[in-house]
Amino acid sequence: MNYRHAYHAGNFADVVKHAIVARIVEYLKRKDKAFRVIDTHAGIGLYDLSSEEAQKTGEWRDGIGRLVEASLDEKTASLLNPLLEAVHKENQGRGIQYYPGSPRLVRHLLRRQDRLTAIELHPQDAGRLKEIFAGDFQTRVIELDGWLALGAHLPPKEKRGLVLIDPPFEEEDEFGRIVTKLEKAHRRWPGGIYAVWYPIKNHDAVQAFRRRLAESGIADVIDIRLELRPPSSEPRLDGTGMIVVNPPFVLREEMETLLPVLAGILGEEGKGRWALERLTAE
Ligand code: SAM
Repeated sequence: MNYRHAYHAGNFADVVKHAIVARIVEYLKRKDKAFRVIDTHAGIGLYDLSSEEAQKTGEWRDGIGRLVEASLDEKTASLLNPLLEAVHKENQGRGIQYYPGSPRLVRHLLRRQDRLTAIELHPQDAGRLKEIFAGDFQTRVIELDGWLALGAHLPPKEKRGLVLIDPPFEEEDEFGRIVTKLEKAHRRWPGGIYAVWYPIKNHDAVQAFRRRLAESGIADVIDIRLELRPPSSEPRLDGTGMIVVNPPFVLREEMETLLPVLAGILGEEGKGRWALERLTAE
């Protein structure tokens, strides 16, 4: 486990991923009934963008750095508001030194009746998470292999909610593992919403992943992508993707508003591209 998210926190991929997660959580809040978010690869929850790691890559500058500087039309601003509010709260309205990772972002959005389970395997990171959420009765932090949680923790007792799967892609066949684990999780809890992040770096592997999902037997799967540039000749993170199973019915329309704007802000020379495609029928 060499991956350290502190180098990448707040980059373009985080911003797009977190904007989608925030829209799904906002959708779940349309009903009073409680829900649960299970974050299987939670990270440390809060990132200091002035840290040595963040400064070394400076990736956040072309992600959340660009987004907070951008002037947004009213519709886009209201869709991004849950994410941007969470960022501003972490910084008490002063600049952006801190960026909330997925569990912290979700926690900002929960109501009193909702719950969060944050799972992290790295002992140090799990320790940081436990400190951040100490005394928070709505959040449970578990030091555990997130892939195991997809078995043992599903379905949650609330029977409504989101499972966020955001692995570090250190394993050789991470795409293959995702499909297998997702099929298993979906069998245990077919009604849950699942959001799975993936990197657009190895373009052939992404195509194969999409094909496998299309043939997986999991119904109602969409694929959301934002690419900064045309495919690079050398392996490089050209874009960010998110698979959503059982997407909220409003998500397509929201993404059709949001993604062109985000592609303009985050894309190279304003030439980012986006796509939202259905992989399996409802
Ligand atoms: N979801 C976080 C966010 O959006 O802020 C970022 C997560 S980062 C991409 C991936 C995390 O997964 C790392 O913190 C890493 O330590 C952790 N990790 C790696 N293997 C894991 C496993 N098998 N189970 C749970 N966590 C794991």
